[in-house]
Amino acid sequence: MLNASTFAKLNGENRNHLAGYILDTIPTAIYTCDQFGYITAYNKAAVELWGREPVLGEDLWCGSWKIFTPAGEPLPLDTCPMARALKDGKPVTGEEIVVERPDRERRNVLPYPVPMFDEQGHITGAINTLVDITEQRQSETRQSVLAAIIDSSQDAIISKTLDGVIISWNRGAEAMFGYTEAEMLGDDISKIIPEHLQDEEDRIIDKVRSGEQLGHYQTLRRTKSGKLLAISLTVSPIRDGRGQIIGASKIARDITLQKENERALRRNAKNLETLNSIGKVISEDLDTQAILQKVTDATTQLAGAAFGAFFYNSVNEHGESYKLFTLSGASRESFEKFGMPRNTDVFHPTFSGDGILRVDDITKDPRYGKNHPHYGMPKGHLPVVSFLSVPVVSKSGKVIGGLFFGHPDAGMFTQEHENLIAGVAYQAALALDNAQLFEEVKVLNAKKDEFIGLASHELKTPVTTISGYVQILAKNVEDATSKRFAEKALQQIDKLTALVTDLLDVSKIQTGNLPLTYSTFNLAHLVEEVIEMEKYTNSPHRINLTCEESDLNVYADKQRIEQVLINLISNAVKYSPNADHLNIRIDCSADKVTVAVRDFGIGIAKEQQERIFSRFYRVEAQSGNFSGLGIGLYICHEIIQRHGGRLWVESVPGEGSEFFFQIPIAAM
Ligand code: ADP
Repeated sequence: MLNASTFAKLNGENRNHLAGYILDTIPTAIYTCDQFGYITAYNKAAVELWGREPVLGEDLWCGSWKIFTPAGEPLPLDTCPMARALKDGKPVTGEEIVVERPDRERRNVLPYPVPMFDEQGHITGAINTLVDITEQRQSETRQSVLAAIIDSSQDAIISKTLDGVIISWNRGAEAMFGYTEAEMLGDDISKIIPEHLQDEEDRIIDKVRSGEQLGHYQTLRRTKSGKLLAISLTVSPIRDGRGQIIGASKIARDITLQKENERALRRNAKNLETLNSIGKVISEDLDTQAILQKVTDATTQLAGAAFGAFFYNSVNEHGESYKLFTLSGASRESFEKFGMPRNTDVFHPTFSGDGILRVDDITKDPRYGKNHPHYGMPKGHLPVVSFLSVPVVSKSGKVIGGLFFGHPDAGMFTQEHENLIAGVAYQAALALDNAQLFEEVKVLNAKKDEFIGLASHELKTPVTTISGYVQILAKNVEDATSKRFAEKALQQIDKLTALVTDLLDVSKIQTGNLPLTYSTFNLAHLVEEVIEMEKYTNSPHRINLTCEESDLNVYADKQRIEQVLINLISNAVKYSPNADHLNIRIDCSADKVTVAVRDFGIGIAKEQQERIFSRFYRVEAQSGNFSGLGIGLYICHEIIQRHGGRLWVESVPGEGSEFFFQIPIAAM
């Protein structure tokens, strides 16, 4: 064992040798200088710290090349702590310096130079111990960077023990939850957890205990003022130096705005969907009831109202109540048993077209509660606190009615609701105007049909009578001129008869009274007969018939099929004034027969081809040049359809048309 007395017994060389050995085993840098500052001895740790071996008798005060203050200012070597200790003869303690090694790495060092004296008290040198505090400084820097980040974060960063005791609370947490750091340190985290979520914390801690991390967990927390905040939480375990979990760090982000935006986005999408569905009904439907029901339902939904209603701006027999038309959100009875709203201060603005009325709490409104006999809502009425009414005004400025919405809570309706519903009310008014026009047109149309029916009936009897008399006259007159005139008169009467018959047919179709009389007949023969008849009309057109199957019996109304054939052939002749022929083709399959009448006339444009089969439709560009009423094809179409068949046209303007009709061969 080496102690002071055995050390003193050693001779000089051995003593030096042992001292050197001891110095080298110490992990702290130690060196000595003589009274002039020249380095005289140093240990291994000093060489490691300086990054170089000093040159004895040459290097002064310090073994490193450059030294600096902790702030990074260069420090002249002769002012370094060692130089000062030698100069002043006093130890210097704990004045931090930074030494730079030849490889430019810098180390933070605490030097402790202590001067040495001889027996006479003369300074003989100094011994310096250099404590390397680089790691400590680095970790301090890391700590303060981390602290600065935590402090400047807008997120709340909190740490707590596994028992829920808060051990850190940053400024973000102060701003978010309203509690100061002082208020929260040492307190329990449950302070900010809403009642109904208290057990959530236990689950979180269980996860943390098992070393799990919880990312972006969305939940609610309560602020000091009692407000609920939507937050996104990230929780991580905190471990001590030995890796043991001792607590949890929590980062909370306020996502109230994000949640609100998400809700607004969902609401907008829903509103858009509702608006679309209203738009569809409004633009497609001409039925007032359907339009108003849809508008009332949809606007009630858009406003988030508990119930909504549409009232017509028409007064009852007592001249005072508005008429309830549609309802949403409540049963009709629950409204009707309270009587209709009257021309009171609350309802008047809407029905007089003054505009929208939106009140957060109608029961506190000065207009409310003044009117006899209810003075507010009738007893037992559905509770209306939030109130919104929007007039529905027609293009002419007339107030058609009003949409009314109610909610039992206050302040439920916003400017956004008001705007949305005003837009719908505007569209609804247009649709109602259209529906009204449509109703009027329908009435007029019915009147016109009635007139056609009556007129054709009234005409038929005198035309038949005239025809009879003229036929007798034609037989009895002797001279050639009178005979010719009588025949011409008969021809015109035939035309008139045909017109009257067609008009009567139209009327029969309209009333569903076009009777069909079925029989079996040979269609090919019927076509030949009609062609034969056509020859006597002085038509310049030659008619070519192609028919593979002459033995072609069909079960149909012969007279009506003949009517169709005559119509198609006379149209083919009429609408091909410059052609000299037309072709008829009969094709048959096992169960159907198709007759095609092909002309080489003016043809029909594609967009007109569907419409020519409707009542009174004539292609406008041609109607001036050709006489007609536009009912022949309509009747043909009806006849063929009633046979369970099909009538259609293929045509190229300027090249001609081909009309086809196809009917089943046997009975349907
Ligand atoms: P109308 O001939 O008395 O006007 P139709 O109902 O028979 O009435 O025909 C309706 C319309 O169809 C006609 O006005 C005409 O414009 C068009 N049309 C009918 N047949 C032909 C045809 N063969 N060629 C060209 N246009 C035709």
